[in-house]
Amino acid sequence: MSLRSKLLRLLLGSEPRMRRMLGYWAATWLLYAMAMLLIFSLIGSGIVDAAAATPLIRFGVTSMFGCYLLIRGADLLSLRPDQLAVLQSLLALTCNVGAYALLGPVRGASLMVLLVIIVFSTFSLRTRATLTLCLVAAVELGATMLWMVAAHPQRYPAPIEAVHFGMTVASLLAVSLLTGEMNKLRTRLQRQKGELLVAVDTIRTMATVDELTALANRRHMNALLHDEECKGSGAQRRVCIALLDLDFFKTINDRYGHAAGDAVLRSFAAAARSALREHDVLARWGGEEFLLMLPATSLTDATQLLQRMAEQVSAVHIRQTQRSPDLTVTFSAGVVERCGTEAFTDTISRADHAMYLAKTGGRNRVVAVAIGAAAAAA
Ligand code: GH3
Ligand code: MG
Ligand code: MG
Repeated sequence: MSLRSKLLRLLLGSEPRMRRMLGYWAATWLLYAMAMLLIFSLIGSGIVDAAAATPLIRFGVTSMFGCYLLIRGADLLSLRPDQLAVLQSLLALTCNVGAYALLGPVRGASLMVLLVIIVFSTFSLRTRATLTLCLVAAVELGATMLWMVAAHPQRYPAPIEAVHFGMTVASLLAVSLLTGEMNKLRTRLQRQKGELLVAVDTIRTMATVDELTALANRRHMNALLHDEECKGSGAQRRVCIALLDLDFFKTINDRYGHAAGDAVLRSFAAAARSALREHDVLARWGGEEFLLMLPATSLTDATQLLQRMAEQVSAVHIRQTQRSPDLTVTFSAGVVERCGTEAFTDTISRADHAMYLAKTGGRNRVVAVAIGAAAAAA
């Protein structure tokens, strides 16, 4: 990491949320800087008294740095973004009203900034909090105006203050109404975003998971095989493929009905899955046929895993009604190891042939076929 990135990380943190909050802070800084430039130029032209401006400038700079430290340490101090926004807005409002009292003939400029402060707060605050801020602004401004009218009636004539106050309160009311609308829009957008995320999740599940067995579906397995093909060959890319087909499944359907057949498929999937390791993938390839991908596995290990699976599957007794017998199921499987960069369609064809041998050899068995070798049944 370069020195510049380290410094930026130290100043702004690495979290996007923190950086966004500090971005708003920096924007407020710009406003403060502009206001200070204005005050300095007015001091230069004799409109503003330097002695009176100094405490306000000090207060502004201190509160800006204080806000930076609070934002940066928000996690440590368990401060929420809305709490920080309220604090920043209150400090800014106080500075603004102070500037109003200081600026004399050009005080109208500070009223525009007052509205900007309220608009800024709407990004982080709910309607009620923004309305409270508007009320605080109106009270602070009203009190300052009364004070200035009483203390400096020439510089702050009462009729002009009344017009300023009336227009500012009307503008604050308008901003509050807009804020309410903005919040409604924001809530609707957040709800729609939530719904969209749920919809995307559902679509992703539908596109990859078989509804009946909750195993990977054929489309997903094809995608995984394609990924595996793209990774190329190598010792670590050793992969075995097995095709499994339930034995005499049609008889179960015919005798006990399609629903019983479905229950058998679900029970088979659950039992078979429990024999798998973390990276193994079992997919429903179609009907009562399943494709198993075993990455980084030798043919011997794959055969052993399938035998273990066969034991677990045959041990499952599927309860039907009180009077019907429990159902059991077995499967026949053919397993092969992928040869180098062989296309998976060819590997699957070889596994299919091995499965055919398992069926013709009497079912309820695993047949492993090594390249160029005779079939070995287990
Ligand atoms: P074999 O031992 O030779 O594989 O015999 P089998 O009876 O299992 O084979 P066959 O291919 O003749 O029968 C498969 C049956 O699986 C036929 C089909 O109705 C049934 N089947 C396919 N998909 C589903 C399903 O989603 N639910 C149910 N209940 N049955 C299904
Ligand atoms: Mg079958
Ligand atoms: Mg079949």
